[in-house]
Amino acid sequence: MKLNHRGLLIVLSGPSGVGKGTVRKALFNKKGHKFNYSVSMTTRRPRPGEVDGVDYFFVSREQFLKNIEEDKMLEWAEFVGNYYGTPKEAVDKLLDEGKEVVLEIEVEGALQVRAKMPEAVFIFIVPPEREVLYARLRSRGTEPKELIDQRIAKADREFLLAHKYDYIVVNDDVDKAAERIIAIIKAEHSKTERSIYKYMKIIGGEKDEE
Ligand code: 5GP
Repeated sequence: MKLNHRGLLIVLSGPSGVGKGTVRKALFNKKGHKFNYSVSMTTRRPRPGEVDGVDYFFVSREQFLKNIEEDKMLEWAEFVGNYYGTPKEAVDKLLDEGKEVVLEIEVEGALQVRAKMPEAVFIFIVPPEREVLYARLRSRGTEPKELIDQRIAKADREFLLAHKYDYIVVNDDVDKAAERIIAIIKAEHSKTERSIYKYMKIIGGEKDEE
């Protein structure tokens, strides 16, 4: 595996309502890094203000299932009645170009990525307290109560899978959470298996690539 030439894949998960999207946006605004966001595909309807091709690729169930059948998805999952997934081609291309790619996905999909690409970095975002999350979900106002209840139940189940991740980041403050993620990414870049090949070249030695 040519870890050293490929870009870093960063997988962000966390229960619905934890503020993943806001943390991701703060992360993208940090200077000194150029992250590429992998736009997911979903069968859910757009929320007011969401733009097709920017927030999600909004597709029909038929289209989504066709993409699964044609092996075009890196991962996918059903989340409270809708399908969500990561189109494979765009992610592969960016990683091949050595770029940093961020996925913001739920737990089931993240575990599929873990199985296929164990070299990725898996970060789980948590709220400072559970109640913060429930309050956020309840105040959303864009979804009926029944769906919000389903999201709360799902969030509880997702919490139990946090131990499958490499890092846990508390979103007590959006900017601080983004800073913690930057620190993780910097450390990941210095990991021996990511940097040894380049280093051996500098000192004139060779290291076989796996
Ligand atoms: P929402 O409907 O709030 O935009 O997203 C619902 C959940 O689906 C969130 O936890 C979000 O991170 C997750 N999600 C978004 N895109 C993807 C994706 O491509 N794959 C998977 N597995 N989950 C996704």
